[in-house]
Amino acid sequence: MKVQKVTVDSEKCQGHNRCYAMAPGMFKVDELGYATPRGDGVLKTPQDVELANRAVENCPERAIDIVEDEG
Ligand code: SF4
Repeated sequence: MKVQKVTVDSEKCQGHNRCYAMAPGMFKVDELGYATPRGDGVLKTPQDVELANRAVENCPERAIDIVEDEG
């Protein structure tokens, strides 16, 4: 089954934590502020999708994507 996943491109991420603030619970950040999806990044609910879209729109580096993946 196809699922939607949120991803962070670590080459683009500049670590200013906006995603962490804009989509609470969806990302974790390391000590330098670089973000990665929390857990497997799978968007399970409409609220997850909404939060992920908010993060995509607010990442100044366009490092965040929503992709389709095999579940
Ligand atoms: S908002 Fe974008 S650049 Fe900033 S920490 Fe999140 S993924 Fe990285």
